Amino acid sequence: MQRFYLSSLGFKEDQLLIEDLRVVHQCFKVLRMKVGDRFRLFDGSMEFEVEVLAISKRSLLARRLFSLENEADPKLEVILYQAIPKKPALFELIVQKATEIGVSEVFPLITERTENRRLAKPDRLDLIAMEAAEQCGRLRVPQMHVPVAFEEAVQDSTYGLMAAVSESDKRLLDFQSDFKNREQVQLFIGPEGGFSSNEVGLARQQGVHCFSLGSRILRTETAAISSLSLMLLG
Ligand code: SAH
Repeated sequence: MQRFYLSSLGFKEDQLLIEDLRVVHQCFKVLRMKVGDRFRLFDGSMEFEVEVLAISKRSLLARRLFSLENEADPKLEVILYQAIPKKPALFELIVQKATEIGVSEVFPLITERTENRRLAKPDRLDLIAMEAAEQCGRLRVPQMHVPVAFEEAVQDSTYGLMAAVSESDKRLLDFQSDFKNREQVQLFIGPEGGFSSNEVGLARQQGVHCFSLGSRILRTETAAISSLSLMLLG
């Protein structure tokens, strides 16, 4: 069933007037909903099934029918620090897939070898995360942050794991017994040019663990998606 995210669900006596044009447009124009049609609304902590009481081009009046249990979000919070790739579309792909897999937050990461220091369309990332959350059934839309410098990011880490080529014989799942009982883990993925040895040293000093994804060099987006899958889908 169709699901839509709204940042807050202020029902008044079981009714909610929706004026968010993204949602109204989808329901009215794209799905051509009529009075009596049902869909779901969620706000990051609750989810409800509703029915349409009135619908127009600009607004939709919904009636709450019942609440739904939703346990689709993983317990482990993985915060992805993803080096900004050369092609902006790749960052969007990573945000979409990471949301489906269950990431909690995403920080664009600026490293020595990142060529882009800014994202082409930062606002688009929120929309991509929202639509991916709607589609995959989770309750929480991952938070998208502004870019952060590598030095700052490793200093903030409480339990960090860093994908680094040829730096360690340890594989990601070697740390599983360590990370699976934690609340929060930070995952660092490097850019096309890789992390510098300086950065690897700095991360190690801060207690971040380096891991290998095997003997083939993966593209940055493949490394991100595979690492998240190992951590959240096993
Ligand atoms: N040109 C770089 C490769 C960068 S790959 C080099 O030769 O070192 C982009 C990023 O994906 C890396 O910084 C790392 O975070 C991750 N990655 C790709 N393949 C990996 C592997 N086999 N092991 C660990 N990390 C990997």
